Amino acid sequence: MVSKKHWSPGPNVVVHRIERSQSGMVIVSGTLAARGICPDCGIQSSRRHGWRRRHLQDFPADGVRVSLALRVCRWRCISAKCVRRTFSDQTPGIAKPFRRRTARLSAIVRHLGHATGGRPAERLLHRLSIGGSDDTVLRQLKCQVEDAAASPKIVGIDDWSWKKSQSYGTVIVDLERRAVIDILADRSVESCADWLRQHPEIEVVSRDRFGLYAKAASQGVPQALQVADRFHLFQNLRQAIEEQMNMHGRALLSDADNISTPSHLLRSRLAHRQSRKEIFKSIHELRKVNIRRGPSG
Ligand SMILES: [Zn+2]
Repeated sequence: MVSKKHWSPGPNVVVHRIERSQSGMVIVSGTLAARGICPDCGIQSSRRHGWRRRHLQDFPADGVRVSLALRVCRWRCISAKCVRRTFSDQTPGIAKPFRRRTARLSAIVRHLGHATGGRPAERLLHRLSIGGSDDTVLRQLKCQVEDAAASPKIVGIDDWSWKKSQSYGTVIVDLERRAVIDILADRSVESCADWLRQHPEIEVVSRDRFGLYAKAASQGVPQALQVADRFHLFQNLRQAIEEQMNMHGRALLSDADNISTPSHLLRSRLAHRQSRKEIFKSIHELRKVNIRRGPSG
């Protein structure tokens, strides 16, 4: 940490003290600038009711957890027409109400969950001294789902790995807002089609080229346009190029080759195996020659 000013978790927070607790955790004590604007009626109040301390987990420092102890003012609403009697200053840029992590830390948890899945994200979080379980990762993703708008028009559907190579669910993303909308427990046609039926406003479904999600989209939102997503198109292209290179070395691809048939894949694998055998044989022959020549050769 450079200074108390640079450590501040938000523009309206003044940091007073940074200390280590007996358990080794870093405690950052700060005060949120007083505003006093009622969230219901919008009228600014000058009648302070008190204050409260809000505890939020923030970015780790020096390999240990950091807890932000934020002092937040509480006010009385001065409007006679307002139903709210007291309220606390809001912390929109720092943390949402009732959350126990700062917004910037929650974003890290979500990004790790997106990139790696539940269990790997859990291990990474512990290595980063953030902590949390795979359930924590899932809760963060669901919180983002709740925050996202309820009427997506362009969605992407893909596999979601609960446990790699063993159990998979389905992740549904709002591509316009770049936010996860929902995570389904499995990757079946039925569950995916059911979810899509509940969202008839969907106009475009971006999916992989595997038939499962195509079928689900046809059943759930038959009126929607289905498109292949860019990631899977590039992935298919890369695999096709690799197969071709295995067959023909560094020769240029032939137009006559049909790169999508199973027989092609089988021929490619056999060619790859044959190539490895030839390399193995060459190495052994070279080794024999070297032995015959002796150490001086
Ligand atoms: Zn009010």
